[in-house]
Amino acid sequence: MKIKAIGALSAAQALEPMDISRREPGPHDVQIAIAYCGVCHSDVHQARAEWAGTLFPCVPGHEIVGRVAAVGSDVTGYKEGDLVGVGCIVDSCKHCEDCEEGLENYCDHMVGTYNGPTADAPGHTLGGYSQQIVVHERYVLRIKHPEDQLAAVAPLLCAGITTYSPLRHWQVGPGKKVGVVGIGGLGHMGIKIAHAMGAHVVAFTTSESKREAAKALGADEVVVSRNPEEMQAHTKSFDFILNTVAAPHNLDAFTALLKRDGTMTLVGAPATPHPSPEVFSLIMKRRSIAGSMIGGIPETQEMLDFCAEHGIVADIEMIRADEINEAWERMIKGDVKYRFVIDSATLAE
Ligand SMILES: [Zn+2]
Ligand SMILES: [Zn+2]
Repeated sequence: MKIKAIGALSAAQALEPMDISRREPGPHDVQIAIAYCGVCHSDVHQARAEWAGTLFPCVPGHEIVGRVAAVGSDVTGYKEGDLVGVGCIVDSCKHCEDCEEGLENYCDHMVGTYNGPTADAPGHTLGGYSQQIVVHERYVLRIKHPEDQLAAVAPLLCAGITTYSPLRHWQVGPGKKVGVVGIGGLGHMGIKIAHAMGAHVVAFTTSESKREAAKALGADEVVVSRNPEEMQAHTKSFDFILNTVAAPHNLDAFTALLKRDGTMTLVGAPATPHPSPEVFSLIMKRRSIAGSMIGGIPETQEMLDFCAEHGIVADIEMIRADEINEAWERMIKGDVKYRFVIDSATLAE
């Protein structure tokens, strides 16, 4: 089927309207009429070829929500009209150790929702800045939030799971002191989710102006990381720090705040490396610096259910499809609270 999308024809060009095609649903496929799609920093990095291997045309978007429009003959879990989501993964090998454990995000053959290999034209996957998507049922998520929250659910599919997964893996909960570094698309979700998990949440920001906003999101305390005295007051006190900042920065300032055996997990992907961390600071307190990438499909469902139960959605600004280039420029400057979401109905206009 032919549908409308917005995408880039080359790294140097702005996004523009284009017609793309989707495969007819196979036996295990779910065809989804996209209602909204969140706008993630990865979309920009990929479309502008700031990461290696971008294939054009590039249609970004991996925070997809909508309704099931049709299902293949062997699909039993979904039916027409169901509210569903698709995140960063649309395929994987389905039989490796990672896939068997529901950690498709770590499968060596994971296929991203855009720019991944596929038999469909044009030979690479095209994402959610489009009217419809066809996805194998294994990678489709069920949405239990009320329908009027649907647009604000979209960012959970990337920003939500990227922060939920490490918070769960490192066992954040009551009695734990948790830091969230950076209050953007990822960080604002990290604060909300860590708060709902029952932790004592401390938000770190470089700007005094975000202090009140971070508290409103659920932070118990806010530290302006440019103020050495404020940082000093938290030395050796954190069980876990979730660092969402993608810009290269001094990690030692934060590892010094970890308790013995504490971990700081990085989820922002910098285009150039962070300065090398001070090994002595790690050795002395058996501290760890770790990484984490999105989450597996079962855990993404768990995250959506957790957020529905706790009334958690993203804070969003809705845009029309033809406002996407301006939205990207604003996102790059950090001028959004906290995630843009495209109203997919405007693609038809
Ligand atoms: Zn993303
Ligand atoms: Zn696999």
